[in-house]
Amino acid sequence: MTNDSWGQARNDLIKAVGKNNFVTWIEPLRLIGLEGGIARFEAPTKFMRDWVSRNFAEQIRTHLSLAGKAVDRIEFLVASTRPVPIAQIADRPTRTRTALAAARVADEPELPGAPLDSRFTFDTFVVGKPNELAHAAARRVAEGGPTTFNPLFLYGGVGLGKTHLMHAIAHELRTRRPELRVLYLSAEQFMYRFIQALREKQVMDFKEMFRAVDVLMVDDVQFIAGKDSTQEEFFHTFNALVDQNKQIVISADRAPGEIKDLEERIKSRLQCGLVVDLHPTDYELRLGILQQKAEAYRAQHGNLKMADGILEFLAHRITTNVRVLEGALTRLFAFASLVGREITLDLAQDCLADILRASERKITIEEIQRKVAEHYNIRLSDMIGPKRVRTIARPRQIAMYLAKNMTTRSLPEIGRRFGGRDHTTIMHGVRKIEELKASDNQLDEDLKLLRRLLEA
Ligand code: ADP
Ligand code: MG
Repeated sequence: MTNDSWGQARNDLIKAVGKNNFVTWIEPLRLIGLEGGIARFEAPTKFMRDWVSRNFAEQIRTHLSLAGKAVDRIEFLVASTRPVPIAQIADRPTRTRTALAAARVADEPELPGAPLDSRFTFDTFVVGKPNELAHAAARRVAEGGPTTFNPLFLYGGVGLGKTHLMHAIAHELRTRRPELRVLYLSAEQFMYRFIQALREKQVMDFKEMFRAVDVLMVDDVQFIAGKDSTQEEFFHTFNALVDQNKQIVISADRAPGEIKDLEERIKSRLQCGLVVDLHPTDYELRLGILQQKAEAYRAQHGNLKMADGILEFLAHRITTNVRVLEGALTRLFAFASLVGREITLDLAQDCLADILRASERKITIEEIQRKVAEHYNIRLSDMIGPKRVRTIARPRQIAMYLAKNMTTRSLPEIGRRFGGRDHTTIMHGVRKIEELKASDNQLDEDLKLLRRLLEA
Protein backbone atom coordinates (compact mmCIF):
# COMPACT_ATOMS: atom_id res chain seq x y z
CA MET A 1 0.00 0.00 0.00
CA THR A 2 2.69 2.38 1.08
CA ASN A 3 4.73 1.82 -2.01
CA ASP A 4 1.72 1.94 -4.29
CA SER A 5 0.88 5.43 -3.11
CA TRP A 6 4.43 6.54 -3.55
CA GLY A 7 4.61 4.92 -7.00
CA GLN A 8 1.52 6.86 -8.05
CA ALA A 9 2.74 10.09 -6.49
CA ARG A 10 6.13 9.65 -8.13
CA ASN A 11 4.53 9.32 -11.53
CA ASP A 12 2.53 12.47 -10.99
CA LEU A 13 5.59 14.30 -9.75
CA ILE A 14 7.39 13.75 -13.06
CA LYS A 15 4.85 16.04 -14.65
CA ALA A 16 4.65 18.43 -11.75
CA VAL A 17 8.36 19.16 -11.38
CA GLY A 18 9.60 18.32 -14.87
CA LYS A 19 11.76 15.43 -16.00
CA ASN A 20 15.09 16.97 -15.12
CA ASN A 21 14.12 17.94 -11.63
CA PHE A 22 12.58 14.58 -11.17
CA VAL A 23 15.66 12.65 -12.21
CA THR A 24 17.96 14.85 -10.20
CA TRP A 25 16.00 15.24 -7.00
CA ILE A 26 12.98 12.99 -6.62
CA GLU A 27 14.06 9.73 -8.16
CA PRO A 28 16.97 9.19 -5.77
CA LEU A 29 14.66 9.48 -2.74
CA ARG A 30 13.69 6.31 -0.93
CA LEU A 31 10.48 6.09 1.02
CA ILE A 32 11.36 4.31 4.25
CA GLY A 33 8.24 4.79 6.29
CA LEU A 34 4.73 6.11 6.12
CA GLU A 35 2.64 6.04 9.23
CA GLY A 36 0.79 8.31 11.61
CA GLY A 37 0.59 10.99 8.92
CA ILE A 38 4.36 11.18 8.65
CA ALA A 39 6.23 10.17 5.52
CA ARG A 40 9.94 9.49 5.91
CA PHE A 41 12.32 9.67 3.01
CA GLU A 42 15.96 8.93 2.74
CA ALA A 43 18.11 11.18 0.54
CA PRO A 44 21.60 10.15 -0.58
CA THR A 45 23.36 13.27 0.72
CA LYS A 46 22.90 16.09 3.13
CA PHE A 47 22.94 18.66 0.37
CA MET A 48 20.19 16.79 -1.45
CA ARG A 49 18.18 16.42 1.67
CA ASP A 50 18.33 20.17 2.31
CA TRP A 51 17.52 21.03 -1.25
CA VAL A 52 14.62 18.63 -1.56
CA SER A 53 13.09 19.58 1.74
CA ARG A 54 13.36 23.23 0.89
CA ASN A 55 12.10 23.01 -2.67
CA PHE A 56 9.97 19.94 -3.16
CA ALA A 57 8.52 18.89 0.19
CA GLU A 58 5.21 20.59 -0.38
CA GLN A 59 4.74 19.10 -3.83
CA ILE A 60 5.62 15.65 -2.58
CA ARG A 61 3.11 15.98 0.22
CA THR A 62 0.39 17.18 -2.15
CA HIS A 63 0.91 14.32 -4.56
CA LEU A 64 0.98 11.72 -1.81
CA SER A 65 -2.35 13.07 -0.62
CA LEU A 66 -3.73 13.03 -4.15
CA ALA A 67 -2.62 9.42 -4.43
CA GLY A 68 -4.71 8.61 -1.39
CA LYS A 69 -2.24 8.92 1.46
CA ALA A 70 -3.05 11.71 3.86
CA VAL A 71 0.32 13.07 4.98
CA ASP A 72 0.73 15.90 7.48
CA ARG A 73 4.44 16.03 7.58
CA ILE A 74 7.45 14.83 5.66
CA GLU A 75 10.81 14.04 7.16
CA PHE A 76 13.97 13.69 5.16
CA LEU A 77 16.90 11.72 6.46
CA VAL A 78 20.35 11.26 5.03
CA ALA A 79 21.33 7.76 3.96
CA SER A 80 24.27 6.56 6.00
CA THR A 81 26.54 5.33 3.19
CA ARG A 82 28.97 7.96 2.05
CA PRO A 83 28.89 8.68 -1.67
CA VAL A 84 32.13 8.91 -3.67
CA PRO A 85 33.37 12.48 -3.81
CA ILE A 86 33.27 13.99 -7.24
CA ALA A 87 36.98 14.81 -7.30
CA GLN A 88 37.90 11.13 -7.12
CA ILE A 89 35.62 10.30 -9.97
CA ALA A 90 37.07 13.02 -12.12
CA ASP A 91 40.54 11.64 -11.52
CA ARG A 92 39.79 8.37 -13.25
CA PRO A 93 40.52 8.89 -16.91
CA THR A 94 40.20 5.24 -17.92
CA ARG A 95 36.47 4.96 -17.57
CA THR A 96 34.35 4.50 -20.63
CA ARG A 97 31.84 7.04 -21.74
CA THR A 98 28.83 5.04 -20.59
CA ALA A 99 30.31 4.28 -17.23
CA LEU A 100 31.04 7.93 -16.79
CA ALA A 101 27.54 8.89 -17.77
CA ALA A 102 26.11 6.41 -15.30
CA ALA A 103 28.36 7.73 -12.58
CA ARG A 104 27.29 11.22 -13.44
CA VAL A 105 23.66 10.39 -12.82
CA ALA A 106 24.45 8.50 -9.67
CA ASP A 107 26.42 11.28 -8.05
CA GLU A 108 24.71 14.20 -9.72
CA PRO A 109 23.47 15.43 -6.36
CA GLU A 110 27.04 15.96 -5.31
CA LEU A 111 27.30 18.70 -7.88
CA PRO A 112 26.17 21.81 -6.07
CA GLY A 113 24.13 23.03 -9.01
CA ALA A 114 20.60 24.32 -9.15
CA PRO A 115 17.78 22.29 -10.71
CA LEU A 116 16.94 23.06 -14.31
CA ASP A 117 13.52 24.16 -15.44
CA SER A 118 12.34 21.58 -17.96
CA ARG A 119 10.41 24.22 -19.89
CA PHE A 120 13.50 26.27 -20.65
CA THR A 121 14.73 24.56 -23.81
CA PHE A 122 15.79 25.79 -27.23
CA ASP A 123 12.52 24.44 -28.59
CA THR A 124 10.49 26.82 -26.49
CA PHE A 125 12.77 29.80 -27.02
CA VAL A 126 11.38 32.17 -29.62
CA VAL A 127 14.06 33.88 -31.67
CA GLY A 128 13.67 37.44 -32.90
CA LYS A 129 15.87 40.34 -33.80
CA PRO A 130 16.53 41.42 -30.21
CA ASN A 131 17.89 38.04 -29.12
CA GLU A 132 19.19 36.37 -32.26
CA LEU A 133 22.85 36.87 -31.47
CA ALA A 134 22.52 35.61 -27.91
CA HIS A 135 20.57 32.64 -29.18
CA ALA A 136 23.16 31.80 -31.84
CA ALA A 137 25.99 32.01 -29.32
CA ALA A 138 24.10 29.81 -26.87
CA ARG A 139 23.47 27.26 -29.61
CA ARG A 140 27.14 27.18 -30.43
CA VAL A 141 28.10 26.48 -26.83
CA ALA A 142 25.40 23.83 -26.61
CA GLU A 143 27.03 21.88 -29.43
CA GLY A 144 29.73 21.03 -26.93
CA GLY A 145 32.51 21.31 -29.49
CA PRO A 146 35.91 22.85 -28.80
CA THR A 147 35.57 26.19 -27.05
CA THR A 148 35.78 29.03 -29.50
CA PHE A 149 35.01 31.85 -27.12
CA ASN A 150 35.42 31.79 -23.39
CA PRO A 151 33.50 32.91 -21.49
CA LEU A 152 30.20 33.48 -23.20
CA PHE A 153 28.83 36.50 -21.38
CA LEU A 154 25.08 37.10 -21.79
CA TYR A 155 23.59 40.27 -20.46
CA GLY A 156 20.32 42.15 -20.59
CA GLY A 157 17.40 43.44 -18.54
CA VAL A 158 15.07 41.41 -16.37
CA GLY A 159 12.94 38.75 -18.03
CA LEU A 160 14.59 38.82 -21.43
CA GLY A 161 15.56 35.15 -21.45
CA LYS A 162 19.07 34.88 -19.95
CA THR A 163 18.17 32.10 -17.55
CA HIS A 164 16.08 30.39 -20.20
CA LEU A 165 19.05 30.28 -22.59
CA MET A 166 21.42 28.97 -19.93
CA HIS A 167 19.06 26.17 -18.98
CA ALA A 168 18.60 25.39 -22.67
CA ILE A 169 22.37 25.01 -23.04
CA ALA A 170 22.45 22.63 -20.09
CA HIS A 171 19.55 20.52 -21.39
CA GLU A 172 21.07 20.29 -24.83
CA LEU A 173 24.49 19.32 -23.51
CA ARG A 174 23.00 16.63 -21.33
CA THR A 175 21.52 15.00 -24.39
CA ARG A 176 24.37 15.54 -26.80
CA ARG A 177 27.31 15.09 -24.50
CA PRO A 178 26.10 13.12 -21.47
CA GLU A 179 29.66 12.48 -20.37
CA LEU A 180 30.27 16.19 -19.72
CA ARG A 181 29.84 17.59 -16.26
CA VAL A 182 27.61 20.57 -16.72
CA LEU A 183 27.09 22.76 -13.71
CA TYR A 184 24.54 25.55 -13.63
CA LEU A 185 24.00 27.75 -10.61
CA SER A 186 23.31 31.34 -9.67
CA ALA A 187 26.09 33.57 -8.39
CA GLU A 188 24.16 33.74 -5.16
CA GLN A 189 24.28 29.96 -4.79
CA PHE A 190 27.96 30.02 -5.62
CA MET A 191 28.48 32.40 -2.74
CA TYR A 192 26.26 30.41 -0.43
CA ARG A 193 28.19 27.22 -1.17
CA PHE A 194 31.50 28.99 -0.75
CA ILE A 195 30.56 30.42 2.62
CA GLN A 196 29.31 27.03 3.71
CA ALA A 197 32.61 25.47 2.66
CA LEU A 198 34.50 28.11 4.63
CA ARG A 199 32.39 27.47 7.67
CA GLU A 200 32.76 23.73 7.46
CA LYS A 201 36.46 23.99 6.62
CA GLN A 202 35.97 22.25 3.31
CA VAL A 203 37.40 24.85 1.01
CA MET A 204 39.64 22.30 -0.68
CA ASP A 205 36.65 20.12 -1.50
CA PHE A 206 34.84 23.14 -2.79
CA LYS A 207 37.73 24.06 -5.06
CA GLU A 208 38.12 20.53 -6.36
CA MET A 209 34.46 20.20 -7.00
CA PHE A 210 34.30 23.32 -9.14
CA ARG A 211 37.52 22.59 -10.95
CA ALA A 212 36.29 19.15 -12.00
CA VAL A 213 33.45 20.64 -14.01
CA ASP A 214 33.48 20.67 -17.83
CA VAL A 215 30.98 23.44 -18.39
CA LEU A 216 30.31 26.03 -15.70
CA MET A 217 27.35 28.39 -15.93
CA VAL A 218 26.89 31.14 -13.41
CA ASP A 219 23.70 33.16 -13.57
CA ASP A 220 23.30 36.78 -12.41
CA VAL A 221 26.96 37.34 -11.69
CA GLN A 222 26.34 40.98 -10.76
CA PHE A 223 25.35 39.53 -7.40
CA ILE A 224 28.94 38.96 -6.32
CA ALA A 225 29.94 42.58 -6.95
CA GLY A 226 31.25 44.04 -3.73
CA LYS A 227 31.54 40.61 -2.08
CA ASP A 228 35.30 40.40 -1.90
CA SER A 229 36.16 36.89 -0.87
CA THR A 230 33.50 35.35 -3.10
CA GLN A 231 34.85 37.38 -6.01
CA GLU A 232 38.32 36.19 -5.24
CA GLU A 233 37.25 32.56 -5.25
CA PHE A 234 35.17 33.03 -8.36
CA PHE A 235 38.17 34.55 -10.11
CA HIS A 236 40.38 31.58 -9.27
CA THR A 237 37.75 29.04 -10.31
CA PHE A 238 37.23 30.97 -13.50
CA ASN A 239 40.94 31.05 -14.34
CA ALA A 240 41.48 27.42 -13.50
CA LEU A 241 38.68 26.36 -15.83
CA VAL A 242 39.68 28.68 -18.65
CA ASP A 243 43.23 27.36 -18.42
CA GLN A 244 41.89 23.85 -18.91
CA ASN A 245 39.84 25.02 -21.87
CA LYS A 246 36.58 24.37 -20.08
CA GLN A 247 33.59 26.34 -21.27
CA ILE A 248 32.16 29.03 -19.04
CA VAL A 249 28.86 30.82 -19.50
CA ILE A 250 28.01 33.86 -17.42
CA SER A 251 24.97 36.08 -17.27
CA ALA A 252 24.41 39.47 -15.73
CA ASP A 253 21.94 42.30 -15.88
CA ARG A 254 24.50 44.60 -17.50
CA ALA A 255 27.77 44.57 -19.44
CA PRO A 256 30.94 43.56 -17.54
CA GLY A 257 32.29 47.10 -17.62
CA GLU A 258 29.09 48.47 -16.11
CA ILE A 259 29.04 46.28 -13.02
CA LYS A 260 30.03 48.49 -10.11
CA ASP A 261 32.29 47.10 -7.38
CA LEU A 262 33.51 44.30 -9.56
CA GLU A 263 37.29 44.01 -9.58
CA GLU A 264 38.99 45.27 -12.71
CA ARG A 265 40.80 42.01 -13.35
CA ILE A 266 37.50 40.15 -13.27
CA LYS A 267 35.89 42.67 -15.60
CA SER A 268 38.66 42.32 -18.09
CA ARG A 269 38.62 38.54 -17.83
CA LEU A 270 34.89 38.54 -18.49
CA GLN A 271 35.39 40.73 -21.51
CA CYS A 272 37.89 38.31 -23.04
CA GLY A 273 35.29 36.01 -24.50
CA LEU A 274 32.15 36.82 -26.36
CA VAL A 275 29.93 39.46 -24.80
CA VAL A 276 26.39 39.50 -26.21
CA ASP A 277 23.37 41.40 -25.05
CA LEU A 278 19.69 40.59 -25.17
CA HIS A 279 17.91 43.72 -26.33
CA PRO A 280 14.50 44.71 -25.03
CA THR A 281 11.79 42.80 -26.90
CA ASP A 282 10.11 44.28 -29.94
CA TYR A 283 6.50 43.82 -31.00
CA GLU A 284 7.20 40.90 -33.36
CA LEU A 285 9.12 38.95 -30.75
CA ARG A 286 6.44 39.50 -28.12
CA LEU A 287 3.75 38.37 -30.52
CA GLY A 288 5.83 35.32 -31.47
CA ILE A 289 6.23 34.35 -27.84
CA LEU A 290 2.51 34.75 -27.17
CA GLN A 291 1.60 32.67 -30.21
CA GLN A 292 3.94 29.94 -29.16
CA LYS A 293 2.51 29.87 -25.65
CA ALA A 294 -1.04 29.81 -26.96
CA GLU A 295 -0.18 26.90 -29.23
CA ALA A 296 1.44 25.00 -26.41
CA TYR A 297 -1.66 25.59 -24.30
CA ARG A 298 -3.93 24.33 -27.05
CA ALA A 299 -1.78 21.26 -27.55
CA GLN A 300 -2.12 20.43 -23.90
CA HIS A 301 -5.65 21.50 -23.03
CA GLY A 302 -7.54 21.34 -26.28
CA ASN A 303 -9.42 24.27 -27.64
CA LEU A 304 -9.12 27.75 -26.33
CA LYS A 305 -11.77 30.20 -27.31
CA MET A 306 -10.16 33.52 -27.86
CA ALA A 307 -11.28 36.31 -30.18
CA ASP A 308 -8.93 37.44 -32.93
CA GLY A 309 -6.58 40.24 -32.10
CA ILE A 310 -6.16 39.48 -28.40
CA LEU A 311 -2.55 38.36 -28.70
CA GLU A 312 -1.75 41.37 -30.86
CA PHE A 313 -3.36 43.60 -28.27
CA LEU A 314 -1.22 42.11 -25.50
CA ALA A 315 1.99 42.28 -27.54
CA HIS A 316 1.26 45.91 -28.19
CA ARG A 317 0.33 46.89 -24.67
CA ILE A 318 2.63 44.87 -22.43
CA THR A 319 6.12 45.96 -23.31
CA THR A 320 7.92 45.51 -20.02
CA ASN A 321 9.32 42.00 -19.96
CA VAL A 322 8.51 38.51 -21.08
CA ARG A 323 7.76 37.27 -17.61
CA VAL A 324 4.96 39.82 -17.25
CA LEU A 325 3.70 38.93 -20.70
CA GLU A 326 3.58 35.25 -19.80
CA GLY A 327 1.87 36.01 -16.52
CA ALA A 328 -0.84 37.89 -18.36
CA LEU A 329 -1.41 35.04 -20.77
CA THR A 330 -1.50 32.42 -18.04
CA ARG A 331 -4.10 34.38 -16.20
CA LEU A 332 -6.12 34.75 -19.35
CA PHE A 333 -6.03 30.98 -19.94
CA ALA A 334 -7.16 30.28 -16.41
CA PHE A 335 -9.93 32.80 -16.84
CA ALA A 336 -10.99 31.32 -20.16
CA SER A 337 -11.27 27.84 -18.70
CA LEU A 338 -13.28 29.18 -15.77
CA VAL A 339 -15.82 31.26 -17.65
CA GLY A 340 -16.08 28.69 -20.43
CA ARG A 341 -16.87 31.17 -23.14
CA GLU A 342 -14.92 33.06 -25.71
CA ILE A 343 -12.45 35.60 -24.41
CA THR A 344 -13.26 38.90 -26.03
CA LEU A 345 -11.17 42.01 -25.93
CA ASP A 346 -13.47 43.45 -23.28
CA LEU A 347 -13.10 40.41 -21.05
CA ALA A 348 -9.34 40.44 -21.52
CA GLN A 349 -9.13 44.09 -20.55
CA ASP A 350 -11.16 43.41 -17.45
CA CYS A 351 -9.22 40.39 -16.43
CA LEU A 352 -5.84 42.05 -16.95
CA ALA A 353 -6.70 45.57 -15.82
CA ASP A 354 -3.95 45.75 -13.20
CA ILE A 355 -1.22 44.44 -15.49
CA LEU A 356 -2.26 46.74 -18.30
CA ARG A 357 -2.32 49.71 -15.99
CA ALA A 358 1.14 48.92 -14.65
CA SER A 359 2.67 48.69 -18.10
CA GLU A 360 1.04 51.92 -19.12
CA ARG A 361 3.56 53.84 -17.11
CA LYS A 362 4.84 56.64 -19.28
CA ILE A 363 8.40 57.74 -19.10
CA THR A 364 8.62 61.50 -18.64
CA ILE A 365 11.18 63.92 -19.99
CA GLU A 366 11.97 64.96 -16.42
CA GLU A 367 12.82 61.38 -15.49
CA ILE A 368 15.09 61.12 -18.48
CA GLN A 369 16.86 64.35 -17.60
CA ARG A 370 17.29 63.25 -14.02
CA LYS A 371 18.74 59.83 -14.90
CA VAL A 372 21.07 61.21 -17.54
CA ALA A 373 22.32 63.96 -15.22
CA GLU A 374 22.92 61.39 -12.52
CA HIS A 375 24.75 59.07 -14.85
CA TYR A 376 27.13 61.76 -16.09
CA ASN A 377 27.45 63.46 -12.77
CA ILE A 378 26.19 66.85 -13.81
CA ARG A 379 23.55 69.08 -12.25
CA LEU A 380 19.95 68.63 -13.25
CA SER A 381 19.76 72.38 -13.80
CA ASP A 382 22.46 72.12 -16.46
CA MET A 383 20.10 70.04 -18.54
CA ILE A 384 17.96 73.06 -19.17
CA GLY A 385 20.66 75.71 -18.68
CA PRO A 386 22.73 77.44 -21.35
CA LYS A 387 26.21 75.96 -20.76
CA ARG A 388 27.85 74.75 -23.94
CA VAL A 389 30.97 72.93 -22.71
CA ARG A 390 31.14 69.40 -24.10
CA THR A 391 30.88 67.69 -20.69
CA ILE A 392 27.45 69.21 -20.27
CA ALA A 393 26.26 69.64 -23.84
CA ARG A 394 26.79 65.99 -24.70
CA PRO A 395 24.71 64.55 -21.84
CA ARG A 396 22.06 67.12 -22.67
CA GLN A 397 21.95 65.86 -26.24
CA ILE A 398 21.73 62.32 -24.96
CA ALA A 399 18.72 63.28 -22.88
CA MET A 400 17.17 64.93 -25.96
CA TYR A 401 17.76 61.78 -27.96
CA LEU A 402 16.17 59.59 -25.28
CA ALA A 403 13.26 61.99 -24.92
CA LYS A 404 12.62 61.74 -28.65
CA ASN A 405 12.89 57.95 -28.66
CA MET A 406 11.27 57.00 -25.38
CA THR A 407 8.36 59.40 -25.18
CA THR A 408 5.70 60.46 -27.65
CA ARG A 409 6.51 64.15 -27.23
CA SER A 410 7.06 66.27 -30.33
CA LEU A 411 10.30 68.15 -30.96
CA PRO A 412 8.80 71.55 -30.00
CA GLU A 413 7.45 70.06 -26.79
CA ILE A 414 10.83 68.56 -25.98
CA GLY A 415 12.42 71.92 -26.77
CA ARG A 416 10.20 73.61 -24.22
CA ARG A 417 11.28 71.14 -21.51
CA PHE A 418 14.92 71.82 -22.28
CA GLY A 419 14.77 75.42 -21.21
CA GLY A 420 12.76 76.68 -24.14
CA ARG A 421 15.12 75.58 -26.91
CA ASP A 422 14.08 75.66 -30.53
CA HIS A 423 12.91 72.41 -32.14
CA THR A 424 15.80 72.59 -34.62
CA THR A 425 18.24 72.48 -31.70
CA ILE A 426 16.57 69.33 -30.46
CA MET A 427 16.67 67.80 -33.91
CA HIS A 428 20.35 68.62 -34.18
CA GLY A 429 21.02 67.00 -30.81
CA VAL A 430 19.11 63.86 -31.69
CA ARG A 431 20.94 63.53 -35.03
CA LYS A 432 24.29 64.12 -33.40
CA ILE A 433 23.75 61.24 -30.97
CA GLU A 434 22.46 58.95 -33.70
CA GLU A 435 25.62 59.66 -35.62
CA LEU A 436 27.99 59.19 -32.68
CA LYS A 437 26.23 56.07 -31.50
CA ALA A 438 27.29 54.22 -34.64
CA SER A 439 30.99 54.76 -34.03
CA ASP A 440 31.31 55.30 -30.29
CA ASN A 441 30.95 52.05 -28.37
CA GLN A 442 31.01 53.65 -24.96
CA LEU A 443 28.21 55.98 -25.92
CA ASP A 444 26.21 53.11 -27.33
CA GLU A 445 26.64 51.20 -24.07
CA ASP A 446 25.64 54.26 -22.06
CA LEU A 447 22.47 54.63 -24.08
CA LYS A 448 21.49 51.02 -23.59
CA LEU A 449 22.12 51.21 -19.88
CA LEU A 450 20.12 54.43 -19.53
CA ARG A 451 17.27 52.94 -21.49
CA ARG A 452 17.23 49.92 -19.25
CA LEU A 453 17.34 52.01 -16.12
CA LEU A 454 14.47 54.12 -17.37
CA GLU A 455 12.39 51.13 -18.42
CA ALA A 456 12.93 49.28 -15.16
P1 ADP B 1 16.04 36.59 -17.27
O1 ADP B 1 16.86 35.46 -16.72
O2 ADP B 1 16.72 37.29 -18.41
O3 ADP B 1 15.55 37.55 -16.23
P2 ADP B 1 14.21 34.46 -17.94
O4 ADP B 1 15.12 33.61 -18.74
O5 ADP B 1 13.92 34.02 -16.55
O6 ADP B 1 14.74 35.97 -17.92
O7 ADP B 1 12.85 34.66 -18.75
C1 ADP B 1 11.65 35.08 -18.12
C2 ADP B 1 10.50 34.30 -18.69
O8 ADP B 1 10.28 34.68 -20.04
C3 ADP B 1 10.75 32.81 -18.72
O9 ADP B 1 9.56 32.13 -18.41
C4 ADP B 1 11.17 32.53 -20.15
O10 ADP B 1 10.80 31.23 -20.56
C5 ADP B 1 10.40 33.57 -20.92
N1 ADP B 1 11.11 34.02 -22.12
C6 ADP B 1 12.02 35.00 -22.22
N2 ADP B 1 12.46 35.15 -23.48
C7 ADP B 1 11.80 34.21 -24.21
C8 ADP B 1 11.81 33.83 -25.59
N3 ADP B 1 12.59 34.47 -26.49
N4 ADP B 1 11.00 32.84 -25.98
C9 ADP B 1 10.21 32.20 -25.09
N5 ADP B 1 10.15 32.50 -23.78
C10 ADP B 1 10.93 33.49 -23.35
MG1 MG C 1 17.45 35.11 -14.75
